[in-house]
Amino acid sequence: MVGDVLVQMVCISCKRNLLGDNKFTSFPCPKCGETVIFRCSKCKTLSNEYTCEKCGFIGP
Ligand SMILES: [Zn+2]
Ligand SMILES: [Zn+2]
Repeated sequence: MVGDVLVQMVCISCKRNLLGDNKFTSFPCPKCGETVIFRCSKCKTLSNEYTCEKCGFIGP
Protein backbone atom coordinates (compact mmCIF):
# COMPACT_ATOMS: atom_id res chain seq x y z
CA MET A 1 0.00 0.00 0.00
CA VAL A 2 1.38 3.37 -0.99
CA GLY A 3 -0.12 6.43 0.64
CA ASP A 4 0.31 8.73 -2.29
CA VAL A 5 -3.09 10.37 -2.24
CA LEU A 6 -2.15 13.42 -0.23
CA VAL A 7 -1.53 16.45 -2.42
CA GLN A 8 1.57 18.35 -1.53
CA MET A 9 0.55 21.69 -0.16
CA VAL A 10 3.19 23.90 -1.72
CA CYS A 11 2.81 27.03 -3.81
CA ILE A 12 3.27 26.15 -7.46
CA SER A 13 5.07 29.42 -8.17
CA CYS A 14 7.51 29.86 -5.27
CA LYS A 15 7.35 26.31 -3.79
CA ARG A 16 6.63 27.71 -0.36
CA ASN A 17 4.89 25.38 2.04
CA LEU A 18 1.29 26.48 2.46
CA LEU A 19 0.63 25.02 5.87
CA GLY A 20 1.21 28.37 7.57
CA ASP A 21 -0.66 30.36 4.91
CA ASN A 22 -4.37 30.61 5.55
CA LYS A 23 -5.04 32.81 2.53
CA PHE A 24 -3.68 30.53 -0.15
CA THR A 25 -5.86 29.58 -3.05
CA SER A 26 -6.36 26.32 -4.88
CA PHE A 27 -8.16 25.54 -8.07
CA PRO A 28 -8.07 22.90 -10.79
CA CYS A 29 -5.93 23.61 -13.84
CA PRO A 30 -8.00 25.77 -16.23
CA LYS A 31 -6.82 23.73 -19.18
CA CYS A 32 -6.65 20.06 -18.26
CA GLY A 33 -8.49 20.13 -14.95
CA GLU A 34 -6.44 17.15 -13.80
CA THR A 35 -4.10 18.90 -11.42
CA VAL A 36 -4.89 21.18 -8.55
CA ILE A 37 -2.96 24.43 -8.59
CA PHE A 38 -1.93 25.81 -5.21
CA ARG A 39 -0.83 29.41 -4.88
CA CYS A 40 0.21 31.25 -1.77
CA SER A 41 -1.36 34.57 -0.86
CA LYS A 42 1.78 36.40 -1.93
CA CYS A 43 1.91 34.93 -5.43
CA LYS A 44 -1.81 35.47 -5.77
CA THR A 45 -1.38 39.15 -4.97
CA LEU A 46 1.61 39.49 -7.28
CA SER A 47 -0.07 37.43 -10.02
CA ASN A 48 3.04 35.31 -10.35
CA GLU A 49 3.10 32.83 -13.19
CA TYR A 50 2.44 29.17 -12.65
CA THR A 51 2.86 26.15 -14.88
CA CYS A 52 0.67 23.08 -14.81
CA GLU A 53 2.91 20.08 -14.34
CA LYS A 54 0.61 17.92 -16.38
CA CYS A 55 -0.27 19.89 -19.51
CA GLY A 56 2.23 22.74 -19.39
CA PHE A 57 -0.41 25.45 -19.21
CA ILE A 58 1.03 28.76 -18.05
CA GLY A 59 -1.24 31.10 -16.22
CA PRO A 60 -2.56 33.14 -14.08
ZN1 LIG B 1 4.01 31.51 -3.80
ZN1 LIG C 1 -3.10 21.35 -16.80
